Amino acid sequence: MVVPAYNEGEGIRSFHDSLLMPALRQLKDILAVSGENPYEIVYVNDGSTDTTLEKLQSIAETASYIKVVNLSRNFGKEVATTAGIEAASGQGVLIMDADGQHPPACIERFVDLWQKGHQVIVGVRSNDAGGFIKTQGSKLFYRVLNSISDQQTVPRSTDFRLLDREVVDAFLRFDERNRITRGLIDWLGFQREYVEFAAPDRLAGEATYSLRKLVGLALNSFITMSTKPLFAFGYLGLLITLLAALTGGVIILQQFLLGDPMGWDISGSAMVGILVTFLVGLLLVAQGMLAVYLSHIYVQAQGRPLYAVDRSSSRNLYESKDV
Ligand code: UDP
Ligand code: MG
Repeated sequence: MVVPAYNEGEGIRSFHDSLLMPALRQLKDILAVSGENPYEIVYVNDGSTDTTLEKLQSIAETASYIKVVNLSRNFGKEVATTAGIEAASGQGVLIMDADGQHPPACIERFVDLWQKGHQVIVGVRSNDAGGFIKTQGSKLFYRVLNSISDQQTVPRSTDFRLLDREVVDAFLRFDERNRITRGLIDWLGFQREYVEFAAPDRLAGEATYSLRKLVGLALNSFITMSTKPLFAFGYLGLLITLLAALTGGVIILQQFLLGDPMGWDISGSAMVGILVTFLVGLLLVAQGMLAVYLSHIYVQAQGRPLYAVDRSSSRNLYESKDV
């Protein structure tokens, strides 16, 4: 279990005691490992400014299978989650929020699917994010994301996810700084399955993601998962240049070559306007050309692994080669 927490002091204790632990106790029978505790909990304190750290420390004192990773400042959920995944040692890693919005009662379904051989189990919210703007914004977000990125993301899929060790190892090879955990996991592929869940309200406190932050997060998703936004203005420039060239051509033909047979009497400033539009279009096309090079540099700088191998299924292939 990896649980990032930022200023969750008010609710974290009841999250742990009355939501997480009862769910895990049930899990014990399913995972049944003799003697040893079959799970560990990694709480990541993401530079909280309230009592979260003290609360987590006192929780950690209750059992040896509870770890606390204390980040030196607030790095944001994406990085905090990565820190937790790095610290986790399990055969499977389940990521969940600390505010109760990812109900631990669903863990059993995640584990069940995992034991059936699925490598990525993704929690999908069945209810709206709340509020008209957030709901419509979320719809628009997935529309745009799926139209510009190569891999498809299921709408309302959340960070509530279980990853097999195979996937975790592949995930840890990413070292891009500007990261969206969900996007990277989707990029990896592997055998995936979905679990629908109804997200309840927060146990306590407020969501730290304001509308402004959410818009930033959406932009970040677009930018990290696709280079297409870079090219948008290049295409616009192409359109503007073509239209301006066409208009300009018609004017030259009818006004100067044919001597204005239609009697349009086009003014000089209109012609300057068309010339300027043409040049602006050219500039945008030039920017689009730069974007082509920039996108190559960008992808190279992200330094993602070229591919991920599913070793759990490749092993047999390698062996059969030797025979
Ligand atoms: N969180 C975090 N660092 C941050 C912001 C949030 O670790 O900078 C954690 C937070 O404690 C919670 C989870 O990320 O466990 C989701 O945050 P929140 O509930 O604010 O967002 P939402 O429910 O809107 O996704
Ligand atoms: Mg929340």
